[in-house]
Amino acid sequence: MSSIPANDLHADPSRFPGLDVYAVAGNPISHSKSPAIHQRFAEQSKQAIHYGRLQPAIGEFAKVAKSFFAAGGKGMNVTVPFKLDAQVLADVLTPRAKLAGAVNTLWIKEGKIYGDNTDGAGLVRDLVAQGIQIRGARILLLGAGGAARGVMGPLLEQEPAQLIVANRSSAKADELVGLFHDFANNHHAQLESRALLDLEDQIKTPLAFDLVINATAAGLSDQSPLTAQAVSHVFVPSSFAYDMVYGKTTAFMQQALHRGARVSDGLGMLVEQAADAFLIWRGADASIDPRSVLSELRT
Ligand code: NDP
Repeated sequence: MSSIPANDLHADPSRFPGLDVYAVAGNPISHSKSPAIHQRFAEQSKQAIHYGRLQPAIGEFAKVAKSFFAAGGKGMNVTVPFKLDAQVLADVLTPRAKLAGAVNTLWIKEGKIYGDNTDGAGLVRDLVAQGIQIRGARILLLGAGGAARGVMGPLLEQEPAQLIVANRSSAKADELVGLFHDFANNHHAQLESRALLDLEDQIKTPLAFDLVINATAAGLSDQSPLTAQAVSHVFVPSSFAYDMVYGKTTAFMQQALHRGARVSDGLGMLVEQAADAFLIWRGADASIDPRSVLSELRT
């Protein structure tokens, strides 16, 4: 009998003989768009796979992931709240997964579980696809949780002039900036931390930003991390505001629109990080078109 637990949502490899089986694991997971995105990549590249969902109970990620791979599963995407558990589970981490401190993509090779983090590369590719110049830009990154940490390395690699990390708890922003101090120096970027409230103060934050990325979870509860006073310092009409939350015009995006700035939600990041995972699993030469999948999801 299979050891995949009862909350397996069409992700037990033993039920799909002859197919390579993948899954996304998160809790909750029913809302996830990853199965639809990966099935489209499989169709585009004319590959037959099955991609399901797994909803491990909190504290049970390692058990469920090990059962999935033991039953023949080939690869797994990992989302909230299991990215740290996935990092601990992996036998081998890519350099960018180590830097991100979290894993969103797992696969098995020669009996070992490998872990990577494709979130930051996904964000950078989505920004570039939307015509955003990161090199030399002044960037404000809101949030200091897992998503913020995951995108720090890929953003700094693009050599922005400045990256300011602002968080509700300033200690977490300080800690994150400390972790990336040397990396930022190596990429000629000025890296600083702030408390969110410092963004109201024109002495502490004198200039507006080219790119403002919301990596907080505030949008999920229809809030913005920016106060009305901060908004007037942060955005000018040439700014670009990017919210990692997707599927709605968030309060943060509305603030930016009122200042005349351009905005984007995080759906493109989701599709692009999935594209990286698909290429890792199925071979870099797999013929996929993430931007057309993104357009389909938006219609
Ligand atoms: P974490 O729980 O690790 O971090 C949450 C962050 O949000 C912390 O910095 C926290 O601040 C801050 N925060 C939460 N609520 C508020 C609020 N009301 N006002 C101000 N700050 C707040 O979550 P993640 O970093 O993993 O995820 C953040 C968001 O990014 C989520 O909404 C997630 O869905 C999204 N995401 C999207 C992806 C995509 O592909 N589009 C990929 C990854 C994540 P504090 O430290 O002070 O508590």
